[in-house]
Amino acid sequence: MTRTLVLSATHAGLSQAADLLRQGALVAMPTETVYGLAGDARSDMAVARIFAAKNRPRFNPLIVHLASLGQVRAIAHLTPLAERLARAFWPGPLTLVLPLAAGAGLSPLVTAGLDTVAIRLPAHPVARALLTRFGGPVAAPSANPSGRISPVTVAHVLAGLDGRIDAIVDGGDCPVGLESTILDATGTVPRLLREGGLPREAIEAVTGESLVTDPAPADRIAAPGQLPSHYAPRGAVRLEVRKPDPDEIWIGFGAACPGTNNLTLSETADLTEAAARLFHLLHRADALAGDGGRIAVAPIPDIGLGRAINDRLRRAAAPR
Ligand code: AMP
Ligand code: MG
Repeated sequence: MTRTLVLSATHAGLSQAADLLRQGALVAMPTETVYGLAGDARSDMAVARIFAAKNRPRFNPLIVHLASLGQVRAIAHLTPLAERLARAFWPGPLTLVLPLAAGAGLSPLVTAGLDTVAIRLPAHPVARALLTRFGGPVAAPSANPSGRISPVTVAHVLAGLDGRIDAIVDGGDCPVGLESTILDATGTVPRLLREGGLPREAIEAVTGESLVTDPAPADRIAAPGQLPSHYAPRGAVRLEVRKPDPDEIWIGFGAACPGTNNLTLSETADLTEAAARLFHLLHRADALAGDGGRIAVAPIPDIGLGRAINDRLRRAAAPR
């Protein structure tokens, strides 16, 4: 990639940003919390590029950003609790984790293969204008390299990601400057997953109860025992296999390890393509191997996105 385009928050700039999103490109956008790194949440390649640009070592789930409640209903089940919270706080710095709707059409990389999805309607006028023009769901973690401080100005975004993303829409400084508060609203009682820009007192004033705090979602999701079953194949998984046993379903990578049954993460050893295909191929291998079957996976270089791929594969291979 060459230079990152800086677009103004005008009709022309926002049209160009929406077109870029349609092409699967990455666009940093201002929100009231921090700058988000936006990509089409339905595109496996766009979402894989988000992980690559941020150099994230792990496929943790991303927040889906939308412009309207109508769009939310197409992607998630709005529980009665979520309806109340949405009415009180959306658009705004609150993210709700909700049950994923059937046929939502999101890339499995966005939800990390979970059957829940984190959703937010940002209040920032530039984010809303871009999301409305684009018309679809946008995955957007903070627009900074993994492990660095979240960006609240255009200069912060460029300092971390210049040349690694396609464009940034200039919306000035982010007014809240803190990440969104994340609530699990899948049940009848909200659970606080992350403190953020919406104070817990404001939430408690609406629900009338003190908030239940959960362990950090990252830790919860990271524990292999907690992985939902559709995330871990039923059969045994063997890693770094250059020569599979005859009874193994083999997921390949690169020309030297082509895989069996047309299962290759990337013929050309492209790690972004491999990340985009990972969850799809795990599902297909699982279906082919069935109960008690065996799955082998070719070695994946432990660089760039390969680290996140290997992290996920190690979890899939962990004893259960
Ligand atoms: P960020 O990377 O700053 O956008 O943060 C996203 C946060 O949302 C992470 O802490 C994720 O663990 C959390 N998250 C996203 N989706 C889910 C989900 N389905 N269930 C629980 N936590 C989620
Ligand atoms: Mg972040």
